[in-house]
Amino acid sequence: MTMKDDTRREEPGQQILHGVGVSPGRVIAPLVHMAPAVTEPPVGDPLTGDPDAAVDRLKAAALAVRAELTERASRARSESAAEVLKATALMAGDRALTKNAGKLVTTQQLSPERALWQAATAYAEQMRAMGGYMAERAADIEDVRARIVAQLRGEDAPGVPQRREPFVLAAEDLAPADTAVLDPDVVLALVTESGGPQSHTAILARNLGLPAVVAAPGVLELSGGQPVFVDGAAGTVLTAPGPEQEEAVAGWRRASEQLASFDGSGQLADGTTVPLLANVGAGDDARAAAEAGAQGVGLLRTEFCFLGRDTEPSVAEQAEAYAEVLAAFEGRKVVVRTLDAGADKPLPFLTDATEPNPALGVRGYRTDSTTPGVLSRQLEAIAAAAQQTTADVWVMAPMIATVAEAVRFQDLAHEAGLRTCGVMVETPAAALTAEQILDRVDFVSLGTNDLTQYTMAADRMLGSLAELNSPWQPAVLRMVECVTRGAASATRSTGTPKNVGVCGEAAADPALAVVLVGLGVDTLSMSARSLAAVAAVLRTVDTAQTRRLAELALGATGPQEARDAVRAELPALAELGL
Ligand code: PEP
Ligand code: MG
Repeated sequence: MTMKDDTRREEPGQQILHGVGVSPGRVIAPLVHMAPAVTEPPVGDPLTGDPDAAVDRLKAAALAVRAELTERASRARSESAAEVLKATALMAGDRALTKNAGKLVTTQQLSPERALWQAATAYAEQMRAMGGYMAERAADIEDVRARIVAQLRGEDAPGVPQRREPFVLAAEDLAPADTAVLDPDVVLALVTESGGPQSHTAILARNLGLPAVVAAPGVLELSGGQPVFVDGAAGTVLTAPGPEQEEAVAGWRRASEQLASFDGSGQLADGTTVPLLANVGAGDDARAAAEAGAQGVGLLRTEFCFLGRDTEPSVAEQAEAYAEVLAAFEGRKVVVRTLDAGADKPLPFLTDATEPNPALGVRGYRTDSTTPGVLSRQLEAIAAAAQQTTADVWVMAPMIATVAEAVRFQDLAHEAGLRTCGVMVETPAAALTAEQILDRVDFVSLGTNDLTQYTMAADRMLGSLAELNSPWQPAVLRMVECVTRGAASATRSTGTPKNVGVCGEAAADPALAVVLVGLGVDTLSMSARSLAAVAAVLRTVDTAQTRRLAELALGATGPQEARDAVRAELPALAELGL
């Protein structure tokens, strides 16, 4: 993740936009805007022409939407994306919907667009009134409604435009539903007007290895169809790219090929090992990470098993899903994080949607006090999955703020038969008491996304606070230092090594990774796509240099200064186009 960088300037006739680079890479492709929301056809919009022909058009539009979604499901990059698309396709093909709309055309002489809109709205309202799972599907019906109306009008469907030719996607920000179905062979880069370094857009871009720039004001005003140059490391978007930018793209391709030779081991120039692990969700993610050379899993986000559910998955179902992940890492370490529901990841059966301040509310480990039992059953499922493999399973709790919480979590995990227990350090409270926490538990993992948000009191999803919300902030680096010092003391007093990992997005920034190692972090965990770049840069520095660069960053007055000072000392970054 990189901040604003003014090294690239525009030539006459070019326009440059500066944002926050959140995923490296350089590409040139035409800019395509996210399709706007479909507008409601006017109330009473009258039918023109033959009613039977209008009903036929309506049915044909619904079938075309179904066919398009089914076809996209067959090309989806993950099982979960395919499921989302298949479910939406089924709704588009629902005969009851077109039948009701058809009746409105023939009996009330409404245009097919208005008739479909009205029929689908009634359907969505009924579902909403039923509550629970049905209520959640109401938004899907509204999505289908927009797609069929767009089809009838001959407009682009809302959301990510479907094109065969590669393009750069410009958007205000991307919602999880948009990102789930994005095809990285066609969408070559993401540029957004808002969104922060830890937003869904940023995390998705890093997972897919797509260059991305967020919080870039002016992106939405650029006219669509024109070629743009995106530099995901510098955080810039340039119009009218010329030979210089073409050379930069070619250089990035060469560097990517060089990085492809990553052998999976993390070490410094002096041979000091720094295990490089992956952040993963479901089984397909884990297999991809193993293939990319990850030495283990530093963060298994178990939310994948719960999201989109209105009831808790059974212990057997959970155990099966976790076992699939563990199977990809036989004999290696897998750190399983228990459910982190709440804030940006709400769950209907666990979190209270009316909380005024969800990021400061009942989220993560805290849900155990409001809905006891879910956590214990999850630990039981993790233990059952662990029994089926030789993976070295560690468990940790998210959103810990006190020693007592850490100890209670450990007790629950031990009761379930899980031996290696730790907690995430995501709150300043946990960072400041890391020594006392580590006197009791086995390890900690720094969740720098949330630790930054809570240290800086800046919502991680807000593009307007992107500068504050940087893990390069000296205050955040001091928190990290406090944790590694606490761990060293706890290691001495207990006589047992206490591992400090980082599993927030900070670990995926090669320059920051060097600083984190210099601050005393033992292991780094990141999206699999970032492993090779981090490994390549770590190999160019020795332990003494990592310490010196950590001092440099700690002594800076702000994130930009810290980052610039460190980057200036790491020539490998420029050589690799990072
Ligand atoms: C973090 O906060 O850094 C983290 C890894 O957790 P998440 O991004 O899932 O909140
Ligand atoms: Mg977190």
